[in-house]
Amino acid sequence: MSKLEVNAVSKSFGDNEVLRDVSFSISDGEFVSLLGPSGSGKSTLFRIIGGIAQPSSGTVKLDSKEITGKPGSISYTPQSPSLMPWRTILNNVLLGQEITGSRDEHKALEMIERAGLKGYENSYPHELSGGMKQRVSFIRSMLSPQGLILLDEPFSALDEFTRLDMQKWLLSIWELYQRSILFVTHNIEEALFLSDRIIILSAKPASVKKEFIIPFKRPRDERILLSEEFLQ
Ligand code: ADP
Ligand code: MG
Repeated sequence: MSKLEVNAVSKSFGDNEVLRDVSFSISDGEFVSLLGPSGSGKSTLFRIIGGIAQPSSGTVKLDSKEITGKPGSISYTPQSPSLMPWRTILNNVLLGQEITGSRDEHKALEMIERAGLKGYENSYPHELSGGMKQRVSFIRSMLSPQGLILLDEPFSALDEFTRLDMQKWLLSIWELYQRSILFVTHNIEEALFLSDRIIILSAKPASVKKEFIIPFKRPRDERILLSEEFLQ
């Protein structure tokens, strides 16, 4: 069954045509990377899928239900994590649930611990490193009930080692919670390592140039092991 269906989405800003007739879908539990050069319209497409921008035409469906232009339908992690500086880590995590009306403090605390952030529940964002803030931002999306997570270049600002650490963590969360993931990146290596399938966008106006199923795809647990071995 398709978790997400993007159907003939086009978007122009004035006479700047950014997206042309973009269509693809994501199955339940699948990890899909959306790859394209900078400026090709990845974040624009992302905001449309996240419901915070309207397409000029086309539709977005989640679990076969149309959600085009409806914010809050899918949990959305923007390119730079925007934690609220005046809220504690726990309250930042709970914010994701407040939006969807499913507050569960016990689960939030458990996820904070799983992310290696035990003891930081009552800290404020400025007390955490970049990688830690990124993990808080993830937890917020992981706890949302929709089962689809959108990540827009989440690791692009991190150094290589922190990045690998975060990739490992993301894979283990994916394994554990069986989410579908749409991961936007311009890093080909990262897409090859993480995903089940890669969707490549052509340069502006972007449309789907190619869908690439990774032929030598490793099982999830092997991907986790590989990054663990490298980090040791
Ligand atoms: P990417 O994420 O692939 O780097 P973006 O989606 O950020 O690309 O940008 C694609 C194009 O869309 C750029 O030409 C950018 O100027 C334009 N664009 C994005 N958002 C807006 C906006 N809110 N208003 C006008 N133009 C925009
Ligand atoms: Mg972008």
